[in-house]
Amino acid sequence: MERMKNGKSEDKNVKIGVSLASYLPWSAYWPETTARWAEEDGFCFLGVLPFREIKRLSRPELPVLFAEKAWNPVDSLIPIIFKKPTKEEKLVPQLWDWLFFPGIAKAECLFHWILSQYQATIVCHSFKDLSEGRLLEVSPGLGMTPEEIVETAQKYRKSLVIDLCHLREKFWISENGKKKSLLGHWQKSLPLLLPYTSLIHVQPYMKDNEAEKILRGEENEIKNMLDIIDDIGYSGPYLVEATLRTKSWNIFRLRKMLRAVRNLVTNPSL
Ligand SMILES: [Zn+2]
Repeated sequence: MERMKNGKSEDKNVKIGVSLASYLPWSAYWPETTARWAEEDGFCFLGVLPFREIKRLSRPELPVLFAEKAWNPVDSLIPIIFKKPTKEEKLVPQLWDWLFFPGIAKAECLFHWILSQYQATIVCHSFKDLSEGRLLEVSPGLGMTPEEIVETAQKYRKSLVIDLCHLREKFWISENGKKKSLLGHWQKSLPLLLPYTSLIHVQPYMKDNEAEKILRGEENEIKNMLDIIDDIGYSGPYLVEATLRTKSWNIFRLRKMLRAVRNLVTNPSL
């Protein structure tokens, strides 16, 4: 209701795009088709990753504005079977890392192909990768409090990406096992981080089956977060990163959910 009061539901200027990761597993093999779906589903820009067949995306209908590296690429199934963390990410790779992305060198090569092809801003995941013109996605994995993040990010102008799921995660997996997130409650971290933010990832909370809740039109916390973002004031873009996980094979249901998430950002009164 807050957002209605602010007149936000009338706001047609909200820039809302979608990550092609939202259309997995389809986008790993048919990125050109999923980019078309993204346009049909009402999104106005794309975020991409170096999926196995990303080179098929030679002339997408929508601009590619953001690029991220492969999650945790592997050269074989062995580290997945033996649960061996990769050197790069220090995390145990999962089956999808092998299914959706090529090997380590090829993934790096495809990432550079994306950058050569599109005017995309790089979204990175640690301070050591942050530089002028790049953005840093906030997650518990930074191992920092929101105050520390703001202090470190201050030398770059508005360099943060807020992910509505990561802000609510209680734990993260470090080299030395499970660790408690230092981000604290989102009601405290969100207002602290927002003034330094130039992109919001709209990611439903996996553990809470939030994507399914949004699809069914049930109450969900993302709505409250969007209200607070509105109240504080934010005029930057939103990127939807949502999945039905194993149920994503049902493309009709997946696209219906993605449209519902988009509506939540543009038309929260519905
Ligand atoms: Zn994200």
